[in-house]
Amino acid sequence: TAQGQFVNFSRLLDFNNQKMPFASAMVGRSFRNEIAPRQGLIRVREFTMAEVEHYVDPKNKDHPRFDEVAHIELPLLPSSVQLEGKTTPVMMSIGDAVASGTVDNKTLGYFLARIYLYLMSVGIKHELLRFRQHLPNEMAHYAADCWDAEIKTSHGWIECVGCADRSAFDLTKHSEYTKEKLCVRETLPQPLVTQKLVCEVNSKVFGPKLKRSAKPVQGYLESLSEADLVVVQDALSKNGKATVVLSGTPADGEYEITPDMVTIETRTITENVREYTPNVIEPSFGIGRILYSLLEHSFNVRANDEQRAYFSFNPAVAPFKCLILPISGQAIFANYLQDVARRLRTGGVPARVDDAASASIGRRYARNDELGTPFAITVDFQTTDDGT
Ligand code: AMP
Repeated sequence: TAQGQFVNFSRLLDFNNQKMPFASAMVGRSFRNEIAPRQGLIRVREFTMAEVEHYVDPKNKDHPRFDEVAHIELPLLPSSVQLEGKTTPVMMSIGDAVASGTVDNKTLGYFLARIYLYLMSVGIKHELLRFRQHLPNEMAHYAADCWDAEIKTSHGWIECVGCADRSAFDLTKHSEYTKEKLCVRETLPQPLVTQKLVCEVNSKVFGPKLKRSAKPVQGYLESLSEADLVVVQDALSKNGKATVVLSGTPADGEYEITPDMVTIETRTITENVREYTPNVIEPSFGIGRILYSLLEHSFNVRANDEQRAYFSFNPAVAPFKCLILPISGQAIFANYLQDVARRLRTGGVPARVDDAASASIGRRYARNDELGTPFAITVDFQTTDDGT
């Protein structure tokens, strides 16, 4: 789900009218070669993953909407705290966490806060959530910073959402191997004017003298740093020739260059465009783990009766939002039930009618509690009087 987005980077950037920063997102199947997938639904070989790839300018990792979340307090477990042998999270506003350098940058901080808001909104318990920073030895070599949202379940603390700054690693690697440019070209507000020592070949002489080796030697000369070019320039003016040594190429060998073959001089270079490879901030959500944690956190039993279990789902995630039931099995309620059901359906609210005459109203409340249906509308005798 991550790499599929990176290989499409140029199309995505086009789609966003070449404007930075922007993000792409994907929900799909992920596969892990887990050696021992024993922890029930938590460690599986195939699972659903939802990933955002947010592309930022490496020189400016601010987020335009950071101020909206800066005040939000998160339970953070920074690597420094873990290295002291402690596991108690520190409550800190994400604004302070970024300002103090605990979290590397505003975009990463923005997503940590959004992950927190999302987990709260689906019904994860606040006291069973922490954001743990990867220790330096856990972090991928390319990662600038990485935090995991960990949720406590009966299996212990489980990594449910990862949020990493993957730097320019993926785009650079894909570009290297496909030879396709995966970068952003930005018109500079003011042209950048610099002085640079450059080497230009005089192809009329250069080509015939070096024949098949002309191209690699030219490539070599053009790739030289200014300091190395100065050495070649000195040799040409003092000795009337310079020796160029190629190694590790198909054209390996020593080549003699004379002043008529090249021009080495300082030129004024005006750049109107800045080209760079974006860095990527990536929140990745393991949907199965979040759902599993959510089920555990929402499962309860009545204080006085262990047999009476129920789910306290947030309405946003409850499969059925509303139960419709008559106070008794009498036929006079049928039309009212249909009317309420139709009105909820029209409003897009998934509802369920439970009018089984065989069960008492208490029994029907209890079994719909087990399904975690958050609301119930009971049609009673007053309804037949005044429609309430
Ligand atoms: P990772 O890319 O390894 O950080 O994984 C991203 C997210 O995928 C994790 O935060 C987990 O929620 C989820 N995940 C990773 N491995 C598994 C697995 N074997 N089974 C279920 N979910 C997983």
